[in-house]
Amino acid sequence: MDPAPPAPCVSTASPETTPIVPLVRAAPVAEVVYVRNLRAKHYRLTLRRDGVPVATIPARGSERAARAFVRGHRDWLAKALARHRQQPRMAEQWHVGTRLMWRGAMTEIRLATSGENPQVCLAADVFQVADLQADLRPTLEAAFKSRARIELTSRTWELAAETRMDIKRVSVRSQRSRWGSCTEGGVISLNWRLILAPAEVSDYVILHELMHLREMNHSRRFWRAVKEVCPDYEQAEVWLDQHGGLVGL
Ligand SMILES: [Zn+2]
Repeated sequence: MDPAPPAPCVSTASPETTPIVPLVRAAPVAEVVYVRNLRAKHYRLTLRRDGVPVATIPARGSERAARAFVRGHRDWLAKALARHRQQPRMAEQWHVGTRLMWRGAMTEIRLATSGENPQVCLAADVFQVADLQADLRPTLEAAFKSRARIELTSRTWELAAETRMDIKRVSVRSQRSRWGSCTEGGVISLNWRLILAPAEVSDYVILHELMHLREMNHSRRFWRAVKEVCPDYEQAEVWLDQHGGLVGL
């Protein structure tokens, strides 16, 4: 699944006939990147994780029509950009006292023990660190990843059994722009950053990927299947949308 907020989407037929409206100079928007996608059926406007708007031109579309489509969605884009600017970001460097999103709550890195084998803790989780004066981020992120590998993998097998889905393998990785994905062959890939999210949210992402083994698309039938196994999935989507920046996505 893609963590990006839902983008407006219309059929290839209509934008061609949309009259070209001159850009209003008073309301400058960020530079839009135009990308042709031969598999796309529709014009599409999305905001990438780094805040760059990307307009997709479908196989039979034109850049001119794509520009018109973007102009037609100026309001959506302005709102998406404003929301992106307001999103709190994760601290660049981590030290004792830094607050992080950890298991769904803003949590302060606290000193557990100093001396020869210093340790810090985040709520109930304790982590060994080499040097308390150094940036703790590389060490802690590595520890988060290995913890995520264990926890998300076992949770996925558990939820696969509960929903009677046949999976082959779980891989926990460091995708930059995805929370999870799955293959028809039953390999589920998850982003280690899900360990930073509340349990309900990471369960939702796992269930979302599991339901793709029933429906390899985002059709209405797919969302019905998701709702069946995860009735509150919309709330989880909102959380992911609002907290992407805090978990480094
Ligand atoms: Zn999906």
